[in-house]
Amino acid sequence: MKRFAVLIVFFVLLCDPRLSGQEPKALPQGDDRYKADILLVVAHPDDEGAATPYLARAVDEGKRVAVVYGTRGSSGANEAGAEQAAALGDIREIEARRALETLGITNVWFLGGRDTASQNVLQSLANWGHGAALEQLVRLVRLTRPEVILTFLPGTFIGEDHGDHQASGVLATEAFDLAGDPATFSEQVAAPMRRLEPFLENLRPWQPKKIYYFPDADREDIFRGKGPQYSVMEISKSAKQAYWRRALESFRAHQTQAKGFLDSISKMDEAQIEKMVLSDGGWSDALHFVLGRSLVGGSVTGEIFEDIAPGAIPFARADVSAEPARPELSAELAGPWDFYANFRRAHGLTNLAHPEPPEIALQAPGTLVIPLWLRNATTKAREVALSVTLPEGWKVQSGEGHFSVAAKETAAARVEINLPALDEKASKKPEPQEVTVHAVSNGKSIGEVKLRVELRKRALPQ
Ligand SMILES: [Zn+2]
Repeated sequence: MKRFAVLIVFFVLLCDPRLSGQEPKALPQGDDRYKADILLVVAHPDDEGAATPYLARAVDEGKRVAVVYGTRGSSGANEAGAEQAAALGDIREIEARRALETLGITNVWFLGGRDTASQNVLQSLANWGHGAALEQLVRLVRLTRPEVILTFLPGTFIGEDHGDHQASGVLATEAFDLAGDPATFSEQVAAPMRRLEPFLENLRPWQPKKIYYFPDADREDIFRGKGPQYSVMEISKSAKQAYWRRALESFRAHQTQAKGFLDSISKMDEAQIEKMVLSDGGWSDALHFVLGRSLVGGSVTGEIFEDIAPGAIPFARADVSAEPARPELSAELAGPWDFYANFRRAHGLTNLAHPEPPEIALQAPGTLVIPLWLRNATTKAREVALSVTLPEGWKVQSGEGHFSVAAKETAAARVEINLPALDEKASKKPEPQEVTVHAVSNGKSIGEVKLRVELRKRALPQ
């Protein structure tokens, strides 16, 4: 009898469809509505305009696009109403969503960074909360699983050179390198421990395949041939309009930033709009991208989606190149310029174009600050003398003289220079000037720091 009962239980088990393998219960997968081909990472509402002519084309080609903004754009003037500060940010978030909606893009997120009026990317990163912003961006890369990331070029240049733009490029590059690593923010990739899991997120690591940059710099010379370009004049198949026109339609949402300009356009006919927008300072011929890294091959100037096949690729840790060898006693440029040298080495971007000597555009009259590292690897305190060679009319305010650096220490020094007012009557804009800081110890040079500086009537603070 006992044996019979065992047999019956065995038979029942065999017939249980849950155990027989005939109808397996599907485990939940990532939500396909949020899968993107392109993830655009920019700083402020309206920055998407740097890429909208290309995004319109990509959407035409069936690509799915998601967008991340660093801030909600709560600083600056409001051209459309009385609201300022946080309230202005609330409005600009909606304006950005509406701008993207005209292109059919609705998956849009904001990292919650604060607008930072500075050219120093490190100040922007600090003000945004670098760690929390990166954690959120890695989460969004894992959520959207992009094939390609498009973002501002991480570098400091003579140009618009907004620290927030640079910060979006820095974070996007870091997320490109980290989102595929299961050991980074592992709570995001851990499976739920409970039915209503409140902590662990059940995302999968995701390695994007390529990252491209668009420069915020005047130096087109050093970016030529470094990536693909896309005509803004071609006609969109879906909208029967040129891509620049699609981008302008999208830009119409940004009333708080450009109501005056947009009102003037609404009074023009098509021919006038085309003439104005395509003239000097507008969209010229093409949108240029700079290839950052590709993990799937393809040529530097080839199409963005060249050699991209669907499906996940393995996580690829960036090759970190070794620090350059230094003498025991040295003086080097610090600040964002030094940060970017380290950043390029840490993220496998040693081929990324950057100006030599380093450069900056500053408002004049004003102050130029040159941050320095004085490194002393010896076992004794050392004296270092700093002096500066300047263009005519420029004056050292502080930072020249003799300084002592303790044994085995790296100390921060700073030279401040007063910049003269620009000649109002000068017909053409002044050429960039070179500033050199000389560091001498014991009668011998331990470093010469050069910086190319362009004076402008208006520029972001350093
Ligand atoms: Zn911006």
